[in-house]
Amino acid sequence: MKAAMLYGVKDLRIEDIPVSKAGAGEVLVKVKAATTCGTDLKIFQRGYVEKVIKLPTIFGHEWAGEVAQVGESLEWPEKGMRVRAGNSAPCLHCTMCQKGKYNLCENMIWLWGAYAEYIKVPARMVLVNMQEIPQHVSYEEAAITEPLACVLHGVEEARVKLGDTVAIIGAGPIGLLHLLTVKKMGAEKVIVIDLVEERLDFAEKLGADETVNAGKVDAVERVRQLTSGYGADVVIEAIGLPSTWEQALKLVRKGGTVLEFGGCPLGTEIKFSTEQLHYGEVTVLGTFHTTPLHFRKALNLIASRTIDVKPLITRKMKLEEIKEAFEILSTSKSEIKIAINP
Ligand SMILES: [Zn+2]
Ligand SMILES: [Zn+2]
Repeated sequence: MKAAMLYGVKDLRIEDIPVSKAGAGEVLVKVKAATTCGTDLKIFQRGYVEKVIKLPTIFGHEWAGEVAQVGESLEWPEKGMRVRAGNSAPCLHCTMCQKGKYNLCENMIWLWGAYAEYIKVPARMVLVNMQEIPQHVSYEEAAITEPLACVLHGVEEARVKLGDTVAIIGAGPIGLLHLLTVKKMGAEKVIVIDLVEERLDFAEKLGADETVNAGKVDAVERVRQLTSGYGADVVIEAIGLPSTWEQALKLVRKGGTVLEFGGCPLGTEIKFSTEQLHYGEVTVLGTFHTTPLHFRKALNLIASRTIDVKPLITRKMKLEEIKEAFEILSTSKSEIKIAINP
């Protein structure tokens, strides 16, 4: 089969590799669509945490496809079924899992390899994180289940409420998914902040009530103006830089919540005022990844069209063009997600 192998930073090659067979409990799936994501772009541009991904490897983790082979001892799924799975599966028995923090599982297994013709789903993942895709949902949409699941987990932890004003820093795919989600949760006003005008226009089309170009105006001042001087009820950082993590703290009102969602480079730190935390009663939280429950919810919300993820797919490309796809994402201002069709 053809697969995109990542050897190192910006070193991505299409290779012919053997298709592995589904062993007991495993399922082999023919990939029909894989979507690009900020994490993939980060890995392509600057490498990643060794614990999560080891090179060389096939990468890509948002995908959906058709069951090609079902391993022994499985009653579900059936060959030919449309499914999505992964990209993680908690063990359900470590201390973190027992505390219900499945996203922090100490024995998490991760599945990479979406940019290929076939992907083999490990037995544990078949059990805890594989779903059938309803007929009316496209493979491209179903692939977006993963980032949406992460976003659902984040906004639930941040307790976005009906009538809230929410400020989102970053209008990339993750910021935009936050926008779509908090709108559905009843946010009264959503303010999206970015440096790129094209992305802000896109956010407006998706329902942002206000957009702020932080390269042109002072974002802190502008958010205060838009919130009668108070700051937003909830601020979501969806970029992953210490500077924007700190900026998020300046955009929140007293008693409000800051969700630091974007993962920063390893070893970085931020500063915040003890006064703001104590006298201002600001809640600051980070969230990482997501849980099988949220994967299920995310697919259901996509299927019911409660959250319409279709507009986020701005281009479709072939597997052979994957390097070009990442180069486009590195430079383009208007592409959000590219669907790769093997
Ligand atoms: Zn992703
Ligand atoms: Zn566990």
